[in-house]
Amino acid sequence: MVWYPPPMMTHQATLIDGKALAGTIRERVREAAEAHRRAGRPVRLDAILASDDSGAAIYARNQASVCEAVGIEYVLHELPGGSKYDDIAGRVLLLNTDDEVHAIMVHLPLPAEIDTERIQSLIDVSKDVEGVNPANIGRVVYGRRSLVPCTALAVMEMIESTGIALRGTRCVIVGASNIVGKPVAVLLMKAEATVISTNKYTKDLASLARTADVLVSAAGVPGLITADMVKPGAVVVDVGINRITMPDGTRRTVGDVAFDEVAGVAGHLSPVPGGVGPMTVAMLMRNTVQSMERSR
Ligand code: NAD
Repeated sequence: MVWYPPPMMTHQATLIDGKALAGTIRERVREAAEAHRRAGRPVRLDAILASDDSGAAIYARNQASVCEAVGIEYVLHELPGGSKYDDIAGRVLLLNTDDEVHAIMVHLPLPAEIDTERIQSLIDVSKDVEGVNPANIGRVVYGRRSLVPCTALAVMEMIESTGIALRGTRCVIVGASNIVGKPVAVLLMKAEATVISTNKYTKDLASLARTADVLVSAAGVPGLITADMVKPGAVVVDVGINRITMPDGTRRTVGDVAFDEVAGVAGHLSPVPGGVGPMTVAMLMRNTVQSMERSR
């Protein structure tokens, strides 16, 4: 039998460069924050860190340097690891009433015995820059002005950066968490797209995914989205952040999308790292400035 080599995948998707997009947004935030500062109204974000989790501490440190770079004041409230519900709730309520504080976020994870959702629902809706108070998600559903979860906003900005007209397109969202999949689905519905929300129990994900003009994966499963699941020319946004061990023992961060093979089929594709991650941080900064501006 004669062996024919497989056809060369010459097509390469256009990269949705989250790092570059985030840079542009951060620059706009910096200009706005600078203008407010000159007018005597510095923009301020307060964060509560109430666990011994090293990941959360690293995230808080990174946030401090991003805030510094864009001219937002950042105040970190470090509560001892063994803090009780009342300690954390009390701090949130104090910040709610402080007019100098425009934005509040609570670093996760909280100590295991604390009801995270109960704490999140205490954050003043107008200062809830991560959009984690259920009231804010409800306002998104009703199409009211609200603070939208940063990762969902990041996904929408990245889709829109491709120039696709969303109305009437078919969008498949892989993953339906409260913080990513569900708000992304709602925002796409608001854009009058036809939206299919999928989860780990969805049957024949591949057939559904193949019909998508826009495919968003937020499942946290490395290599889940392969080339045969992607419609040629589709916009593919990879939200997944997964740490994997390579055959040589080194560790790498990858998304949910098998990047190299999907790049041969998709029209636009976001990378990991350098995709949704930096855009999420930029959205947090933008939400912070917005919540300050709306408070006036
Ligand atoms: P989650 O665990 O809360 O939810 C995962 C969702 O994916 C669930 O709805 C589950 O049913 C679905 N799912 C799991 N396996 C699936 C499969 N095989 N097929 C179809 N659906 C499947 O996760 P999350 O908090 O939404 O995060 C998802 C991923 O996004 C993670 O990798 C996380 O690290 C990443 N993330 C990235 C950012 C960012 O800023 N880039 C922000 C938040 C989350």
